[in-house]
Amino acid sequence: MNSKMSDCIFCKIAAGEIPSKKAYEDDRVLAFYDLDPQAPVHILIIPKEHIASAAEITEDNSSVAAHIFEVAARLAKELGLDGGFRLVANTGADGGQTVQHLHVHLLGGRSMKWPPG
Ligand code: 5GP
Ligand code: ZN
Repeated sequence: MNSKMSDCIFCKIAAGEIPSKKAYEDDRVLAFYDLDPQAPVHILIIPKEHIASAAEITEDNSSVAAHIFEVAARLAKELGLDGGFRLVANTGADGGQTVQHLHVHLLGGRSMKWPPG
Protein backbone atom coordinates (compact mmCIF):
# COMPACT_ATOMS: atom_id res chain seq x y z
CA MET A 1 0.00 0.00 0.00
CA ASN A 2 1.42 3.40 -0.97
CA SER A 3 1.82 5.81 1.91
CA LYS A 4 0.32 8.49 -0.34
CA MET A 5 -2.42 7.90 -2.89
CA SER A 6 -2.39 10.59 -5.57
CA ASP A 7 -6.16 10.54 -6.08
CA CYS A 8 -7.06 10.52 -2.38
CA ILE A 9 -8.52 13.76 -1.05
CA PHE A 10 -7.39 13.12 2.55
CA CYS A 11 -3.84 12.29 1.39
CA LYS A 12 -3.89 15.68 -0.34
CA ILE A 13 -5.14 17.38 2.83
CA ALA A 14 -2.42 15.57 4.85
CA ALA A 15 0.19 16.80 2.36
CA GLY A 16 -1.14 20.38 2.50
CA GLU A 17 -2.11 20.25 -1.19
CA ILE A 18 -5.74 20.94 -0.26
CA PRO A 19 -6.22 23.48 2.55
CA SER A 20 -7.92 22.57 5.80
CA LYS A 21 -8.58 24.20 9.14
CA LYS A 22 -6.15 22.31 11.35
CA ALA A 23 -6.83 21.39 14.96
CA TYR A 24 -3.66 19.35 15.55
CA GLU A 25 -0.76 17.97 13.55
CA ASP A 26 2.33 15.87 14.12
CA ASP A 27 4.46 13.59 11.97
CA ARG A 28 1.91 10.74 12.02
CA VAL A 29 -1.56 12.30 12.16
CA LEU A 30 -3.55 15.38 11.20
CA ALA A 31 -6.75 16.62 12.84
CA PHE A 32 -8.85 19.13 10.90
CA TYR A 33 -12.35 20.55 11.05
CA ASP A 34 -15.02 18.81 8.96
CA LEU A 35 -16.39 20.93 6.08
CA ASP A 36 -19.96 19.92 6.92
CA PRO A 37 -20.11 19.88 10.73
CA GLN A 38 -22.70 17.65 12.38
CA ALA A 39 -22.08 19.02 15.89
CA PRO A 40 -20.66 22.22 17.42
CA VAL A 41 -17.28 20.45 17.45
CA HIS A 42 -16.66 18.16 14.46
CA ILE A 43 -13.06 17.25 13.76
CA LEU A 44 -11.63 14.50 11.56
CA ILE A 45 -8.46 12.77 12.71
CA ILE A 46 -6.52 10.95 10.00
CA PRO A 47 -3.25 9.08 9.67
CA LYS A 48 -0.84 10.81 7.28
CA GLU A 49 -0.15 7.44 5.67
CA HIS A 50 -2.89 6.13 3.41
CA ILE A 51 -4.96 3.48 5.20
CA ALA A 52 -8.20 2.94 3.30
CA SER A 53 -10.49 2.28 6.27
CA ALA A 54 -10.74 0.76 9.72
CA ALA A 55 -11.08 -2.58 7.93
CA GLU A 56 -7.46 -2.22 6.84
CA ILE A 57 -6.01 -1.89 10.35
CA THR A 58 -3.52 -4.65 11.06
CA GLU A 59 -0.92 -5.49 13.68
CA ASP A 60 1.60 -3.62 11.51
CA ASN A 61 -0.23 -0.27 11.31
CA SER A 62 -2.38 -0.25 14.45
CA SER A 63 -0.04 2.01 16.42
CA VAL A 64 -1.23 5.00 14.39
CA ALA A 65 -4.83 4.03 15.20
CA ALA A 66 -3.95 4.05 18.89
CA HIS A 67 -2.31 7.44 18.40
CA ILE A 68 -5.50 8.77 16.79
CA PHE A 69 -7.43 7.87 19.95
CA GLU A 70 -4.78 9.54 22.08
CA VAL A 71 -5.04 12.73 20.00
CA ALA A 72 -8.85 12.58 20.19
CA ALA A 73 -8.74 12.43 23.99
CA ARG A 74 -6.32 15.34 24.13
CA LEU A 75 -8.35 17.49 21.73
CA ALA A 76 -11.57 16.74 23.60
CA LYS A 77 -9.92 17.92 26.81
CA GLU A 78 -8.49 21.05 25.17
CA LEU A 79 -11.83 21.91 23.60
CA GLY A 80 -13.64 21.50 26.90
CA LEU A 81 -15.82 18.55 25.90
CA ASP A 82 -16.11 17.62 29.57
CA GLY A 83 -19.64 16.27 29.19
CA GLY A 84 -18.44 13.67 26.70
CA PHE A 85 -18.02 13.24 22.99
CA ARG A 86 -18.36 10.66 20.25
CA LEU A 87 -15.70 8.98 18.11
CA VAL A 88 -16.91 7.41 14.86
CA ALA A 89 -15.08 5.55 12.09
CA ASN A 90 -17.60 4.92 9.32
CA THR A 91 -16.29 1.87 7.49
CA GLY A 92 -17.24 0.60 4.06
CA ALA A 93 -20.52 1.01 2.18
CA ASP A 94 -22.78 -0.22 4.97
CA GLY A 95 -20.88 1.93 7.45
CA GLY A 96 -21.58 5.04 5.37
CA GLN A 97 -17.92 5.75 4.56
CA THR A 98 -17.67 8.35 1.78
CA VAL A 99 -13.92 9.11 1.83
CA GLN A 100 -11.72 6.03 1.40
CA HIS A 101 -8.94 7.12 3.78
CA LEU A 102 -9.24 6.16 7.45
CA HIS A 103 -10.68 8.98 9.54
CA VAL A 104 -12.12 9.18 13.01
CA HIS A 105 -14.84 11.76 13.56
CA LEU A 106 -14.59 13.60 16.89
CA LEU A 107 -18.06 14.98 17.58
CA GLY A 108 -19.00 17.01 20.62
CA GLY A 109 -20.72 20.01 22.09
CA ARG A 110 -24.21 18.55 22.00
CA SER A 111 -25.96 15.51 23.39
CA MET A 112 -25.85 12.52 20.99
CA LYS A 113 -28.52 9.95 20.26
CA TRP A 114 -28.12 6.21 19.91
CA PRO A 115 -28.49 4.28 17.67
CA PRO A 116 -27.30 6.44 14.75
CA GLY A 117 -29.31 6.28 11.53
P1 5GP B 1 -17.39 9.71 6.07
O1 5GP B 1 -18.76 9.94 5.50
O2 5GP B 1 -16.48 9.05 5.06
O3 5GP B 1 -17.35 9.05 7.40
O4 5GP B 1 -16.82 11.16 6.37
C1 5GP B 1 -16.22 11.97 5.43
C2 5GP B 1 -16.27 13.36 6.01
O5 5GP B 1 -15.33 14.14 5.33
C3 5GP B 1 -17.62 14.04 5.88
O6 5GP B 1 -18.09 14.40 7.16
C4 5GP B 1 -17.32 15.26 5.00
O7 5GP B 1 -18.05 16.40 5.40
C5 5GP B 1 -15.83 15.45 5.20
N1 5GP B 1 -15.13 16.00 4.06
C6 5GP B 1 -15.18 15.56 2.78
N2 5GP B 1 -14.35 16.29 1.99
C7 5GP B 1 -13.76 17.19 2.82
C8 5GP B 1 -12.80 18.23 2.59
O8 5GP B 1 -12.30 18.45 1.48
N3 5GP B 1 -12.42 18.98 3.68
C9 5GP B 1 -12.93 18.74 4.93
N4 5GP B 1 -12.51 19.53 5.93
N5 5GP B 1 -13.84 17.79 5.17
C10 5GP B 1 -14.26 17.01 4.13
ZN1 ZN C 1 -5.36 8.69 1.39
